[in-house]
Amino acid sequence: MGSDEIGLKVSIAHRLAQLPPYLFVEIDRKKREAMARGVDIINLGIGDPDIPTPQNIIRALEIAAAKPVNHRYPESEGLQEFREAAAKWYARRFHVELDPQREIITLIGAKEGIGHLPLALVNPGEVVLIPDPAYPVYNAGTIFAGGEPYFMPLLRENGFLPDLKAIPEDIAARARLMFVNYPNNPTGAVATWEFYEQVVEFARKHNVVVAQDNTYSEIAYDGYEPLSLLQVPGAAEVGIEFHSLSKTFNMTGWRIGFVAGRHEVVDALRSVKANLDSGAFQAVQEAGIEAMLNSQAAVRANIKVWQERRDVLIEGLRAAGLAAEAPKATFYIWTPVPEGYTSASFVSMLIEKAGVVCTPGNGFGKYGEGYARMALTADVSRLREAADRIKQIL
Ligand SMILES: *Cc1c(COP(=O)(O)O)cnc(C)c1O
Repeated sequence: MGSDEIGLKVSIAHRLAQLPPYLFVEIDRKKREAMARGVDIINLGIGDPDIPTPQNIIRALEIAAAKPVNHRYPESEGLQEFREAAAKWYARRFHVELDPQREIITLIGAKEGIGHLPLALVNPGEVVLIPDPAYPVYNAGTIFAGGEPYFMPLLRENGFLPDLKAIPEDIAARARLMFVNYPNNPTGAVATWEFYEQVVEFARKHNVVVAQDNTYSEIAYDGYEPLSLLQVPGAAEVGIEFHSLSKTFNMTGWRIGFVAGRHEVVDALRSVKANLDSGAFQAVQEAGIEAMLNSQAAVRANIKVWQERRDVLIEGLRAAGLAAEAPKATFYIWTPVPEGYTSASFVSMLIEKAGVVCTPGNGFGKYGEGYARMALTADVSRLREAADRIKQIL
């Protein structure tokens, strides 16, 4: 039966139409066409590790999945043992002491918490400060809550950190929430201690909650250790920090993460979750405990893999004449596109002529125009091949 026969006209809510247009239609079409022509595609377009989850974590899930206690509804704030493990991990990694009862909840991935946070904090018409370019969920969550996004440009000359002094007073006065994300997707930039101090000062002055997305805290190179916002004095009063096991332990499909920080904010998010979802599968939380508390050898091995790939791709892109810089963290390379191209025309050309798929920078916001993002999610020989092909066509 066709929908015409039913006679129901489905009207879609305005909030969906308010989301930014999906910019990848043309690129998706070109990718499909290239695949249909039998082109050997090298896909650097998706931020999803190609390396499997470590065996000890899989074993922990197998054992936990067999326990009947885990077959029932979880608590929406997460297992006490998972929250204690997250607190231990935090203390070990950042020397920050957190109360697992009050200051941490489990999330069904960081994305879930990020997307729900504006529902907990923002009234219709209130402003949310969002970086541009950025992970799209900060904006989507804001729109779904009826909030008004204000975009903070991330410019190369500022190290891809937002200039807080450039935020107009009236915007700051109406702002309830600010998202920041370091190490940064898509630019690969990292935050300085001084920047986080400025963030805390801004938050106090304007009464704004800060939500820092630390999803990439464990993917960093050359011995560099990314900071936690919560290390900075005063941050625990104004901020929360999102963590994900997805990128650290190659667990994107498992949907597990947590948020830590200011009790009232964490608790407001818990209330939203209690009404919308029923928490993360407890067996996955048990596997997450294994991931956080047992040997971190797999994480170190991962970093070696990413670092070698980063070095190979950077060298190859430079040889091809692109002004790409090696990121200190994340598995992304954020390269300026060559003269005469837009983000979209460059990415389209790479698919058509080189069979290399990457993401146009403007897909992350208008200040991403002029860049392309390449994810290091292919092995060294494929990355070398991708760079060689790019060199030939440029
Ligand atoms: C991948 C990613 C996430 C999502 O993490 P999940 O825990 O898998 O939901 C959040 N923020 C950024 C910046 C990401 O790149």
